[in-house]
Amino acid sequence: MRAPDPGPVRTTCPYCGVGCGVLATPDHLGGATIAGDREHPSNFGRLCSKGSALGETLALDGRLLHPEIDGRRVSWDDALDETASGFRRVLDAHGPGAIAIYLSGQLLTEDYYAANKLFKGFLGSANVDTNSRLCMSSSVAGHKRAFGSDTVPGTYRDLETADLLVFVGSNAAWCHPVLHQRMLAARAARGTRFVVIDPRGTATSEEADLHLPIASGTDAILFSGLLVALAERGAVFASYVADHTEGFDAALIRARELAPSVDAVAAACGVEAAKVAAFYDLFAATERAVTLYSQGVNQSAQGTDKVGAILNVHLATGRIGREGMGPFSLTGQPNAMGGREVGGLANTLAAHMEFDAESIEKVRRFWGAPRMARAPGLKAVEMFEAIGRGEIKALWVMGTNPAASLPRADAVSTALRKLDLFVVSENVASNDTVNAGARIRLPAAAWGEKDGTVTNSERRISRQRPFLALPGQARPDWWAVAQVGRRLGFEDAFGWRTPGEVFREHAALSAFENDGTRDFDIGALAGLDTRDYDQLRPTQWPARQSAVRDETRFFAKGGYFTPNRRARFVAVAPITPGAGTDDAYPYRLNTGRVRDQWHTMTRTGKSPRLGSHLPEPFLEIHPDDAAREGVADGGFARVTSPHGAVVLRAKVDPGARRGAPFAPIHWTGETSSSGRVGALVHAVTDPFSGQPDAKATPVAVAPV
Ligand code: SF4
Repeated sequence: MRAPDPGPVRTTCPYCGVGCGVLATPDHLGGATIAGDREHPSNFGRLCSKGSALGETLALDGRLLHPEIDGRRVSWDDALDETASGFRRVLDAHGPGAIAIYLSGQLLTEDYYAANKLFKGFLGSANVDTNSRLCMSSSVAGHKRAFGSDTVPGTYRDLETADLLVFVGSNAAWCHPVLHQRMLAARAARGTRFVVIDPRGTATSEEADLHLPIASGTDAILFSGLLVALAERGAVFASYVADHTEGFDAALIRARELAPSVDAVAAACGVEAAKVAAFYDLFAATERAVTLYSQGVNQSAQGTDKVGAILNVHLATGRIGREGMGPFSLTGQPNAMGGREVGGLANTLAAHMEFDAESIEKVRRFWGAPRMARAPGLKAVEMFEAIGRGEIKALWVMGTNPAASLPRADAVSTALRKLDLFVVSENVASNDTVNAGARIRLPAAAWGEKDGTVTNSERRISRQRPFLALPGQARPDWWAVAQVGRRLGFEDAFGWRTPGEVFREHAALSAFENDGTRDFDIGALAGLDTRDYDQLRPTQWPARQSAVRDETRFFAKGGYFTPNRRARFVAVAPITPGAGTDDAYPYRLNTGRVRDQWHTMTRTGKSPRLGSHLPEPFLEIHPDDAAREGVADGGFARVTSPHGAVVLRAKVDPGARRGAPFAPIHWTGETSSSGRVGALVHAVTDPFSGQPDAKATPVAVAPV
């Protein structure tokens, strides 16, 4: 392994999808001074509370630093031999449907690429999914359905040049803070109007000119009503619709059925008609409008249709791919986009290609693959249910904690204990998943040690560079995958010596026989030599010319990636808001993040400064609901669903929506007082994306 270079190192924050550039200056004692990188086009030197505290999170306490089998320290050779022979054994006995790998939006693109190649090309299994399924897969499915490709049309600059920003299911002030600061700065200069659509009052809604606290799950009705209003006001861009789209009439007919009037929308969404009308007036009158959407849209039983309803209004007005206009999916994790690019989802093959016969053959030839997966694999929730039924017998979990973060987390934990072979690649020696019977434990490199690339929400590829030596026997994940691949007999295909070699192969695959009919093409980056890769500046895709382009938008003049190059309007399906609640479980639990923690706190939990913001798990509940249940502010409440129970500190807050209490996702542990809300969440998923609905689990609330 290459020793890290001395002096300030340009790298990228490991938390959210904004993808801020970080300057890390190691102190040569295992720590580093952290500053924002003024030259990085995501943040121009700014960092939020989490990013600026990165230097406080580098200590090695709690790290997994040596390979282990059955709790005993072993050599890497022994651990890799056992991993390879275990997968070979299950594959030979039960076939490729019995093996799986579960990845993470925290992994680098090179890690993702290696894992996807091994499983889909050489072991014949498309059971390759990721915690990004829980994060943005409804946006992926919505983009593909409308655009024929998983393409984010715009750039961060559009958020600064818009006159109207519509935040849907997004608390950007806490979850994408630096980008939100950029938007606030632009508003101060140009008077941008902010509309926030969110059941909760949040730090983002506090900044809004207009807040629509709609009932959970009614976004598609609200945006269907907007499509109707645009048509009635003559605000449809008829020539764009005629020249570059299809399906408008059917979508409008459906929208009129779902949302015939402002009053009907207001009644269905549970908000004042005047607010709905004000939103529609503002959107119709403001050409430079961007709609930003995040987990409140994605994490839903109707997530893909919600995305479709949002895309419909931008397609109808031609407000897409032009400066200051467009739909914009805010990615949750630092490399959810990089995972999408390599095929880290079970229903994507590689390099944004699907499981069609032509693409399978193309990838097979490029990889020289002996055993190609021929059909999509199981998505995250399905994958762990198959483990529970004993159908998947060998699993490799890499950089994520599904026994805390997946719906019905207790059932996931039980399922993991049934595996014949359970391998984890982890930074930490102990978490809910490791403790659920992981037999082989591989010590993974962490942020500050890793070397590779990530892609942020605006399709910008940035380097994560190492500035600390690898501690103990920790190794990069791509390296561990390659070592297993070689042990399975694929020495040439997994012969990479550096992450740069992995990246070049990934870039070459993106351009392989790509005549421009596929959006994802970074072929220009396939020619990088080692020095170029080391010095790679943040670069947006597509990068298909010899000179790498920057600030690229899609679709202003059509050119969608559907067979006929037209965007497809979507007739969104009717829903029944509030379905699932009954007398036993009368509330709908909403879950989400808080400002200063990340995922299950593996890193942010090391910073006392971050921990002081909100030091314990809580239930945010409306005063009327608290009074009805006899729950006191500051007291404890037991929250129960059919899948588990959790005890949380009650925060009685008039900003909460009646009937829809909220709890954060970050706390984990085995007891009901640990705050592990994944144990409560139902395993209801969107029919297109397979993304779980983490925003509306029926629950009961009672005082403790
Ligand atoms: Fe890191 Fe996101 Fe904060 Fe930027 S906004 S510093 S990427 S957590």
